Amino acid sequence: MSNEKTLPLVDAHCHIDLYDDPAQVVAEAEAHQVYTIAVTNAPSVFAHTAQLTVNSRYVRAALGLHPELVHSHGHEVNRFSLLLSQTRYVGEIGLDYTTKDSSIRKAQRAVLDQILSLCAESGNKILTLHSRRAASDTIAAVGKDYPGKAILHWFSGNHSELERATEYGMYFSVNAAMVRASKGRSIIQRIPLDRMLTESDGPFVILNNQPANPVSINQTVHGLAEIWGIAADEAGERVISNFRRLLTTENHSPSEY
Ligand code: MN
Repeated sequence: MSNEKTLPLVDAHCHIDLYDDPAQVVAEAEAHQVYTIAVTNAPSVFAHTAQLTVNSRYVRAALGLHPELVHSHGHEVNRFSLLLSQTRYVGEIGLDYTTKDSSIRKAQRAVLDQILSLCAESGNKILTLHSRRAASDTIAAVGKDYPGKAILHWFSGNHSELERATEYGMYFSVNAAMVRASKGRSIIQRIPLDRMLTESDGPFVILNNQPANPVSINQTVHGLAEIWGIAADEAGERVISNFRRLLTTENHSPSEY
């Protein structure tokens, strides 16, 4: 066993800045070789996470504007455009239709459209998308010709929405809460093997009475392996190989994480 090389893991959606000790989470991701996309919820907090991850090999800061903050922080889209050249990773962005307020939904779509056109201009951005009760509109907003890559984080849409996202080339990042819920498990079973990624969505997802974190991705990989009926190592290999393919766009090889 001691001769076996440990496979790196993937945490495609983690709110590192929202833990009690963000620097510790970065250090653990680094020590356990977990490729981590550190999403942020507003452009005004991006610099903090960028600073935390500046010397990291495995953790990358993503620039975001969370749909549930659009009603209060929508004006920050200007700041978003000024910061975008600093990172290849974008999130958390998307739509959230738990609000019934049509003017708020409309504002979310307007901000998302602006962000997506800025990202399309640069061509190689990797998006992590929130789509709660709004899968159809989120998938349609990104569209089938988006020139970078898109990940649907904590996807909870229906079968035809999942098929459309797959047809558009999108990836899916799944977490510990999905692995243990029957609805989440049935979604996981429908996600093509070559589009599956893992995420903690920590500190929001709770695992064993603790916030999930990049290191606990290991347990999610075991959960996936059980659902797929394969060995955990093999499940881990699939996820890391999907992640490497995700990173490969026209102007980028996977070595340029
Ligand atoms: Mn999130």
